[in-house]
Amino acid sequence: MSDGFFHEGDLVGVLTTQPLDRLLDYKAPEGGCQLGAFVEVPLGPRKVIGVVWGAGRGDYDHIKIRSVIRVMDAAPMRAEMRDFLRRAADYTLTPMTAMLRLATRAPGLGDPPSMRKVYRLGPSEPDRMTDARRKVLEVLRDYGGLSFTLKELAEMAGVTSSVVKGLVKQGAVAEEDAPRDTPFLHLDADFGGKDLSADQAKGADFLRQAIQSDRYGTTLLKGVTGSGKTEVYLEAVAECLRKGRQALVLLPEIALTSEFLTRVEARFGARPAEWHSGVTMTERRRAWKMVGVGAAQLVVGARSALFLPYQNLGLIIVDEEHDTSYKQEDGVLYNARDMAVLRASIVGAQVVLASATPSLESYVNAEQGKYAKLELTSRYGPAVMPKMRAVDMRDEVLPSDKWISPALAQSVQARIEKGEQSLLFINRRGYAPITLCRACGHQIGCDDCDARMVEHRFLKRLVCHQCGETKPMPTVCPSCEAEDRLAPVGPGVERLTEEATALFPNAKVVTLSSDLFGSARAMKEQIEAIAAGDADVIIGTQLVAKGHNFPKLTLVGVIDADLGLQGSDLRAAERTFQLMRQVAGRAGRAEVAGEAMLQTYQPEHPVIKAILSGDEDGFWAAEAREREAAGVPPFGRMAGIILSSPNVQEVFDLGAAMVRGDGPLRAIGAQVFGPAPAPIARIRGRHRVRLLVKAEKTAPLQGAIAKWVAQFKPPNTLRLTVDIDPQSFY
Ligand code: ADP
Ligand code: ZN
Repeated sequence: MSDGFFHEGDLVGVLTTQPLDRLLDYKAPEGGCQLGAFVEVPLGPRKVIGVVWGAGRGDYDHIKIRSVIRVMDAAPMRAEMRDFLRRAADYTLTPMTAMLRLATRAPGLGDPPSMRKVYRLGPSEPDRMTDARRKVLEVLRDYGGLSFTLKELAEMAGVTSSVVKGLVKQGAVAEEDAPRDTPFLHLDADFGGKDLSADQAKGADFLRQAIQSDRYGTTLLKGVTGSGKTEVYLEAVAECLRKGRQALVLLPEIALTSEFLTRVEARFGARPAEWHSGVTMTERRRAWKMVGVGAAQLVVGARSALFLPYQNLGLIIVDEEHDTSYKQEDGVLYNARDMAVLRASIVGAQVVLASATPSLESYVNAEQGKYAKLELTSRYGPAVMPKMRAVDMRDEVLPSDKWISPALAQSVQARIEKGEQSLLFINRRGYAPITLCRACGHQIGCDDCDARMVEHRFLKRLVCHQCGETKPMPTVCPSCEAEDRLAPVGPGVERLTEEATALFPNAKVVTLSSDLFGSARAMKEQIEAIAAGDADVIIGTQLVAKGHNFPKLTLVGVIDADLGLQGSDLRAAERTFQLMRQVAGRAGRAEVAGEAMLQTYQPEHPVIKAILSGDEDGFWAAEAREREAAGVPPFGRMAGIILSSPNVQEVFDLGAAMVRGDGPLRAIGAQVFGPAPAPIARIRGRHRVRLLVKAEKTAPLQGAIAKWVAQFKPPNTLRLTVDIDPQSFY
């Protein structure tokens, strides 16, 4: 090898996407290949994708070593990207092959450079003009120099494709080969900027300078919903584009991207590349390839957009940085927020973490000066934060199967009369969380999980929220066979809708819950209709807490503010605080001041009091003190170990053996707790046991865990998962 180039026949070590724990040796193909090249290699009878990771080890019978089949039509993986994958793998204790799979999640990457026929105006006139021919030529003239596929052109002209083919023969239409994956339209940094408020301008200036430095840095951009954070960070994006570097905006939820893309288009004059589960396979491949050659200046996407092969990434925005969906909970367990910081630090890029309610991690990093902090203190324009108050449920008289208190109902009624909207928030999908037999007390559970089945009346089925299994609603109790004695217990969003419809007969009541829509588009349409005023009372789950804009909404009622406070999750207080503030922030976005009412049985609870008083800094400081005293994140480190198997004995045996063999952990002063049955002790028929490792903040946790785990050879049926910095503990 010389200068990162391997000549034909040189041994190369290839990292593949197959679950093998080593690089595979191959011979460089005819024409050689570069370090980092994407290649196709033979593996047994198959062909798989890989990346040339270095020189081969040469410890394998040379005769048997096969050749790389070919180098793919893609920019070689840059040293920076290889470094990022390696360090992300080390951090999350994930095999490199799984990291490479994450970085190549676009179909057809291995396909040969693909071309397609396109059609444009040709040099000659046809010998004979017909109506159909005229229509085709008119379309081509109307669109200047643009070219179209055969199907597009025929459709636009309203003719059959044979008409177009006829014109090609005559030279009136030219047929050419063009690459299938085309560059994204150019974004103009100076297309449509807004006049910024003084606060916003200060923030934008700060970020522009940070980007000018060409160095790594992270900034926490904090401001209530509607304070204009997006406008500020779009200025940072603009500056990044001016410098000729690429920008990435990560968003937590697909539903938001279409609204967001419209804003980007208004700001930069064209749409950016998109990367999320709703993007077609062809567009995914196009985005992946164009990002790699710098022909996509801006990517808007979900967390996995972080693993695209950027040519020159200069800025990563993590919007709603506290959102739990940034933590991937299956496959590679990574937190996109933390990985964004890692990637930026490797390439000298800037990170902006935007949120109204930052995570405690980011709050502490800003307090300690690791992150810069920008704060937008007021809402943009006339809107102000809503007034918050508690409804003490101990004083309210309510039948046992009703949840909207008289106090809340009265306020909703007053809004209806004024033509304003109210939102009733309940963080539970379905009709009722429990289905109980009134004869024998049996609660209907999932056959495969340690979980109750949730009635979904809209679907007319019972659904397991753990594994997704459904069954029809039975009419007799599966346990005692009593007829017609099954009853719903507790409220879900569908049941609340029923209650509200009865309570406010003249109002239009609509429900917003992710499972009630057949498609992202249907959901988007409903959200737009609500924003336009086509609803009086909105019943919503967590879905509505996210950044949607409902200008007519002036009242938010939280049905059960205590819900999130139960349970042993160390972030329960933080999550409740964030969620309540986000939901309350939906009220009063336009000119009319809003109000938020929290139904609670414990108004004196410190978290509820902090939410009501709006004393954010007080809440965070107190929360930080408690976590510091307990030595838990962000002041200490944690890792969760989940063992699962169809065989319950197996998981407990290994759990116990792991505790006995905790030497590598003790060597770094870490402790292991457990094994204990996981809160959901069985999912999809697999029994689950958890261990928890706690260590000091500076302890080299990953290395110790790797050594510790390597001592054991679990049976094939057993799955062992390591979750570094766990966010959920189910
Ligand atoms: P956030 O991201 O903090 O929730 P946004 O940036 O979405 O806030 O701003 C809230 C609303 O105010 C949006 O409709 C946005 O277009 C508008 N807005 C914010 N800043 C300005 C500005 N400087 N000029 C005009 N409109 C603005
Ligand atoms: Zn289940």
